[in-house]
Formats: sequence, structure tokens, C-alpha cells
Amino acid sequence: MRVLVPLGKKIVVGIVSQSVEELPPTLDVNKVKDIIAVPDVRPIVTEAQLQLWEWIAEYYMSPIGDVMAAGLPAKALDKVYELDGFKRRIKIPVYSDEIEPIHPLTVQQEQAKDAILHQWESKDVVLLHGVTSSGKTEVYIHLIQQRLNAGKQILFLVPEIALTTQLTDRLQKVFGEQLWVYHSRITDTQRMEIYRQLVTDVSTPRLIVGARSAVFLPMRNLGLIIVDEEHEPSYKQTDPAPRYHARSTAIMVAHQQGAKVLLGSATPSIESYFNAMQDKYGLVEMKERYAGLQLPEIKRIDLQRQYHRKEMYGHFSDPLVDRIREELGKNKQIILFQNRRGYAPLLVCEQCGKSPSCPNCDVPMSVHLHEHEIRCHYCGEKQPIPSICPHCGGRLKVRGFGTERLEDEIQMLFPQARVARMDLDSTRKKDDYQNIIGQFSRHEVDILIGTQMVSKGLHFDDVSLVAVLSADHLFSVPEYNSYERAFQLLEQVSGRAGRKGQQGEVIIQTWDPKHPIYSYLIRHDYEAFYQEQIHERQMFHFPPFHRIISITLRHSDAAITQAAAGWLQFRLHLVFDKRCSEIITPSVSRIQRNHLRQIKLRIESNTNIQKAKILLTQQIDALMQQKEFRSVQVLVDVDPI
Ligand code: ADP
Ligand code: ZN
Repeated sequence: MRVLVPLGKKIVVGIVSQSVEELPPTLDVNKVKDIIAVPDVRPIVTEAQLQLWEWIAEYYMSPIGDVMAAGLPAKALDKVYELDGFKRRIKIPVYSDEIEPIHPLTVQQEQAKDAILHQWESKDVVLLHGVTSSGKTEVYIHLIQQRLNAGKQILFLVPEIALTTQLTDRLQKVFGEQLWVYHSRITDTQRMEIYRQLVTDVSTPRLIVGARSAVFLPMRNLGLIIVDEEHEPSYKQTDPAPRYHARSTAIMVAHQQGAKVLLGSATPSIESYFNAMQDKYGLVEMKERYAGLQLPEIKRIDLQRQYHRKEMYGHFSDPLVDRIREELGKNKQIILFQNRRGYAPLLVCEQCGKSPSCPNCDVPMSVHLHEHEIRCHYCGEKQPIPSICPHCGGRLKVRGFGTERLEDEIQMLFPQARVARMDLDSTRKKDDYQNIIGQFSRHEVDILIGTQMVSKGLHFDDVSLVAVLSADHLFSVPEYNSYERAFQLLEQVSGRAGRKGQQGEVIIQTWDPKHPIYSYLIRHDYEAFYQEQIHERQMFHFPPFHRIISITLRHSDAAITQAAAGWLQFRLHLVFDKRCSEIITPSVSRIQRNHLRQIKLRIESNTNIQKAKILLTQQIDALMQQKEFRSVQVLVDVDPI
């Protein structure tokens, strides 16, 4: 139950997690303060939630208080909120317009559904690997209906609510009032109301759709958790603590409650697929697209050759321009993908070669020509575009390109075409995203330019061509999983092409057309890609064979940060030996005026990770005991991605 307790001079909301007959000997009786008030007549947190919080705190090495703050709606931590207040007239928004029928499943979908049900008899988790547009949503809908009929609750996790409106719309039209959407666009009070109803009313069957944090909802009659697009990185919370992964947490929640889990993706995470190969998860596949459609044909264009022959217009190769013209002529739609927002990532001085960089972070500022600004993508710092180099007074040139620049170029190439741009900058306001998607799906826009936002689960009938303007920087990220991410992104964005009528086409512009990743992409051969990746992961001691724990030290003084990292690394190395890395200076080593250093531990997956965490905690505690390092922040991330 909630209690109001004094904390320093403040009164705060706390949760009673345990009651003890006697105080533990470490506590001084005289220092223990009384509870001021008990605002509710019944518990606001279930036993299962407390157990889950403890698991998260331990597994992700987060303070339990942080887990609680993440696990409760903001209102629950509000002193004046009463769980059983009298004047309750809060409406949870539900969809009550025309209801769409459930589509009958195709043969492939029916077989997948049966296989999933069959696998659940012996396994808690099943991975549904279905190619883009195979109709995974329809399979989900049938399974949900079945569980609702059995009187159960279902949790449906999506990566980002804003980016999944098409899916949510479809679910709402099928399930109407039985569906509650738990996201940031409903008010705090409405979120609290959903929470309250779930914690008090056990019996009503419900479908809850939500992003990552919905795994914390107090489901008490849970039959099924669906994790759609299970490979999406946004399921992992990176900041602040708890740095939990919603997929792993969902599996834990389902396990606690005896519910089943369905993970769905066209490009499963290497980790989930590995678990399926190990027989830990069931695996069900759908290899055909709905209505007999072919997967898109993928073509490469060699940028080196194009530039050499001067067959380029701006950042568009001549063959790509021709194809866009042809498709526009046929009244088709086109998606252009470039995973960089703004006009250009860099301004470079022609004379000294330096770039204007952020005063708070050690990164160059990106050019946002449409807003007449340069901006830092790490801290949001904005400045007017300088007309000369701040270092030497030389002439500045833009280098590279983002979505804004493509927008300008395409408008000059095709002045008649209707163009829209979808990225973080163009979707700042509440309904921006919805509006762009709406316009594009009504074919009021011919060409949609966007960052990875355009790759996510969208379905447009008339898109026949998808172009990736420069694929190379996707592979060059120095992380063990950069190929996995690149493959997923390219396969997902490709999947937007040719979803109705005829086979779609994907054009990838690249400096390195012989890159091995393309051979898998062209054949849409996820299995072969997986085999190659898992082999590398094993050879180089990466997940899932080793677990990574990353420790980041943060301080405004570079010398103190470095010294603290040295202190900690020396000791961790004594304890962990080769499992402990050297001190790593991240590629962006200063963010928001704080200097960063990292240490990474790599622990064999088959050893006792709990022991490792205890040893690590001891060393961090010892670091914090050092007077000179007391103000250093230490952030621990278990299974970082
Ligand atoms: P996925 O999530 O696997 O990429 P979707 O679930 O979005 O695929 O389905 C792709 C398209 O095919 C959607 O427009 C959907 O309405 C249609 N579709 C899939 N299965 C069926 C079905 N059984 N009956 C009618 N339409 C279907
Ligand atoms: Zn900055």
C-alpha cells in the first residue's frame, strides 16, 4: 500500500513492500520515523509487481526506487491522489465507431496460428518470424480474440505508439471498447485511471496496447503478451535507470503469471532467433506475403562509378532519377530513406578544415538550413548559421546530406511532385506524424522523405519504389550489432515497397556495392544472415554468448572523470581479468558539459552473472567512498544495445 512518509523536510509517497516484526539490527530505533498517513484503503501495487520490481532492480542493477518511479503512473506518486476518491468521472478514451470484422485467415496464417498454439503447449515464448506484409497483425488479432473469449487480459507491446497508428487503428476497429491504449498522449489522470481499473478489477477481459512502459501495468488475469517488432531497439530504455529491456521484462511478467508470449518480427533480433534455435523459444514462420505478392526486388547503384562519370544530380544518381520519374508518371508513390535529419551533418572550413562544434558536447553541429540554424543533436543547442569559420575566418561549406537537403533537391528535380518529409524535426507537434501519414496514405503526397521513422510497420498501397540514398554509414557504426541493425533497417524499409498489386522495387545507393550484407538482403535471406552473424558473435565473444555490462562515468571535469575511470578499471581488472575492457573514451566523449569514460565487462553467458554483478557493485561502492570521486556519476547498463 501507499504511505506518506517524511523524507528530510518533504513528505513523499512511499510503497510498503514488506512488514517486519523487528527492526533489523543495522537500523537505529530512534532514527526510524513514523508513517504520516495511509491514503488508500487497499493496495495500489500487487504482490507480482513488487516481485517484478525486485527482479528488474537486481537484473538491471538499478535502485529499487527508480524502478518504482518507472513502474507507477506519475499520479500515483502524487500525495493528494486518492485511489478510491469519490468524485471520479474520468473517462478512458475508447473507440466506439464502426467496428471492422475480423478477416478470415489465409492458409499460411491459419497454419501459423495453429503452430503457435501447439508450441505454447510446451513453451512459454514463441517467435513468429513472418516476412513484411505476411499479415502478422491478422494472426495476432485471431489469437487475441481467442484469449478475450476465454476471459483473459492481453498486453500488446509496440515499439513507439506514435509510429504505430496504423496498427492501433486496425486493432481499435476490431476490438472497440475492449481496447485501451496506454500512451503518452492520454493525460496523466487517464493513465492513472487505466492503472486503477486494472489493479482493482480483475475480471473484465481487456486488450491493452502500449509502448515499453506498459509492461509495468498491474495485469492480474493475463493470458498473453504480444511483443510486435520485437527487434526494435526502442524496447530498451537507455536513460534514465532502470535501463530495462521491455521484451525481457515481458517474458518475466508472463512467466510470473503463467501467461504466454508471442514475439513477432520480419527481422528478429539475433538474440531471440538464437533462443529459438536453442529450442528455448518456439519458432513459427510465414515466408509468403499476403495475396501472393513477391518481396521487393533490391538493386544497388555504385556511387563511386556514378560520381566518377558525373552521372549525379545532387545526391541522386541518374538511374534513380529516371526510376522516380517513371513511377511518378504511373501515378505511384515513392519513399526516400536517409537516416539523417537536418540539411547536412557538417559545416567544414575550406581553409582550416575545422567545423563549428557544440559548446556543450564534443560533436560538430548539424546544419538546419530551413530554420537558419546549426543544431547539436545531442543537447539541442541552437545557433545561427555562421557565415565564416569561427576558428580562422575562412569560407564554410556544407558536407554530407540529411533529409532537408534531399527535400530541396527532389523539389528542384520534380517541381510538380508533392513532397513531404518525416523526421524528428517535422513531427514535433502532437498531430504532425498522424497528418503526414494520413496525407501519404490518401495519396495527397507523391514522395515521402524520411529517417528510420518511415521504416516502421507502415502500409501504403501505392508505394512502388523505395530508395536508400546512402546505405554505407549504417554499417560503419563501431558496435558489435551494427550489421544486425543495418540489416533490420534496410529489410524493414524495403518492406514498405509493393504491398499491393505488383512487386515493389528498392534502390540502394552505396559506395561499397560488394558489401556482403547485400547478398543476404537481395535474397531476403534472414537465416543465412543470422548464421553468419551468430558465427561472428561466437568467435568474438559477443552476445548472446557473452553478456555485456557497460559502466559509464560522468563528470564535468575531464581529469576527474579519467582518474575515476582509472581507479575503477584497475580494480575491476584485478577482479575480472580479461573480462574487463580498458578505459574507453566514447566517440562523443563530452555531452551536455559532462565528460564520459566507459568500462565494459564481458561475462560468459553460462556463468553466474549474479556473482559478477555483486562484485561489480562492491567496486563501484568503493569508488564512491573515495572523497575525490564522490561527485562522479556512475551509470550501469546491463545488456546495452
Ligand atoms: P505484416 O505486419 O506482416 O507486415 P500486415 O499485418 O500489415 O503485415 O498485413 C499486410 C496487409 O495485408 C494489410 O493491409 C492487411 O490488411 C492485409 N492482410 C493480411 N492478411 C489478411 C487477411 N487474412 N485478410 C485480409 N487482408 C489481409
Ligand atoms: Zn551539444
